[in-house]
Order: sequence, then C-alpha cells, then structure tokens
Amino acid sequence: MDTTPIALITGASKGIGAATALILARDGFDIWLNYRGDHQAAATVSEAVVALGRDCRLLPFDVADSNATTVALEPLLEEATPFAVINNAGFAADTLMLTMDFEREWKRVLSVHLDGFFLVTKLVLAKMLRKRRGRVVNIVSTSGQAGMAGQVNYSAAKAGLIGATKALAQEMGKRDILVNAVAPGFIQTDMTNDLPWDAILPKIPLGRVGRPEEVAEVVSFLCSAKATYITGQTIAVNGGIYM
Ligand code: NAP
Repeated sequence: MDTTPIALITGASKGIGAATALILARDGFDIWLNYRGDHQAAATVSEAVVALGRDCRLLPFDVADSNATTVALEPLLEEATPFAVINNAGFAADTLMLTMDFEREWKRVLSVHLDGFFLVTKLVLAKMLRKRRGRVVNIVSTSGQAGMAGQVNYSAAKAGLIGATKALAQEMGKRDILVNAVAPGFIQTDMTNDLPWDAILPKIPLGRVGRPEEVAEVVSFLCSAKATYITGQTIAVNGGIYM
C-alpha cells in the first residue's frame, strides 16, 4: 500500500470497537474513530492510538442519522479513502416481543444496526470502488445466527446484516473489495455487564466469557494481507456456544 491505510470503525469509544481501534493501530492503520456520545471514553482510546504512533480522528455522530453521517464523513472522504470500514456501532434493547415497543425497541435497534451499516458503508464504498480495493467487516452476533429469546429485534438486525454482508460481497468481489462479518458470542463489555453469568457460562464450551481483543484480532486478520481470498463469510468468535 502506498500510504498508511485508514480504518473507519464505528462505535469505537469502548468495548469491541475500542479494542479493534487499538489492534488495527498496532497493525499499522490510522484510525477514524466514530462513536455516539461518550467523548471522554473516545478521547482515551484516541490517546492510546496516538501512543501507538498512529493518527486518530474522532468522529462523534449517530450512524443511524443520514444527515449527521454525511456531514461527518464527506469532508474527510474528499481527502482520503479508508482501506477498511468496520461496522461495529450497536446496542441491544432486550425484552420479549409481546412487550416490545415498536419505535424505541424494534425500529431503533434495526435502524442503528442496518441503517448504520447502509449509510456509513455506502459513502465509503463509492470511494473504495475507485481504488479497487478495500475491506468491509460487519460486527454481527451469535444472536443473529441462532436467534435468542428476548432479542427478536436484535436477532433480526444481526441476521439482516449477515444477509447484507453476503449480498454486498457478491456485488463487490470483482472490484477486490472483500466483505465479511464477525459474529461474537458473549464478550465482556458494557453491553453484557448485567447478564446472568451463572446461567450463561455453563452453556459456553470454553467455559468463559470472551475478551474484546479476541474479536478485534479476527477483524484485524480480515483487514490484513493474510485474508485476500475470504469474502461473504461470517466468522464466529464465540467460545463454541454456537457451532
Ligand atoms: P458497547 O461496549 O456498549 O459499545 C457500543 C459502542 O457503540 C459505543 O462506542 C457507542 O458509542 C457506540 N454506539 C452505540 N450506538 C451508536 C450510534 N447510534 N451511532 C454511533 N455509535 C453508537 O458495545 P460492545 O459490546 O462493544 O458491542 C459492539 C458491537 O458488537 C455491537 O454491534 C454489538 O451488537 C456487537 N456484539 C457484542 C457482543 C457482546 O457480547 N458484547 C456480542 C455480539 C455482538 P458511545 O458509548 O460513545 O455512545
């Protein structure tokens, strides 16, 4: 590659996204770091990226907001084209379907995961196509592969993203833009802090919760020169909970 490659990571102020930013920085990427509202956490990740000798641009915007996404990304895309886009921003709003609120829990969860993927990726893809190279990695979930009670919204969003991954991989293959998904199982982050671990751990063959870095290493592999013949795949990082 001629210049330092850039990775745009959504939802990278904490958790899996933050770990991905640090590991991609370690592996030679400058980082465009999106997040929604936690400026302090994002600044801490940014400092760590800079300490690794890489640039970090902080990009606070809601990935489900078309206008905010365009306003944040378009000026940067005039200057440079990311080699990799990691669609990681997300959240869960768990409840049984019978008690699920249509706007707040169904539409919002689908919007952040699916609209977020669409809006961010479409803007960057237009530029990637001209370079005829690039990687898109979508962070999905075991929930989107197996379905999970209490997560009809989240399972639908992540299953949708797996379908979008396969379709986009087919559209982009000839241009050498590789599109894959990584499906974490239970990973220790803010999102999973309050889960009933005593009930969950016995169901995981490896008998423990995963670390964000264990997901991030697979993302980095998919963005590397070691992964030139993998596209349209969903790679599970789940301790064996779904096979
Ligand atoms: P987390 O620790 O709660 O972090 C979520 C990140 O997403 C934060 O940086 C947050 O930004 C950002 N974010 C949320 N909504 C956003 C929006 N609308 N626009 C832009 N940024 C937004 O979550 P995590 O556990 O690392 O999860 C990361 C991804 O992995 C998600 O897609 C999640 O569904 C998936 N996943 C997680 C697990 C798990 O066990 N943890 C398992 C499977 C899949 P602010 O905090 O700054 O607002």
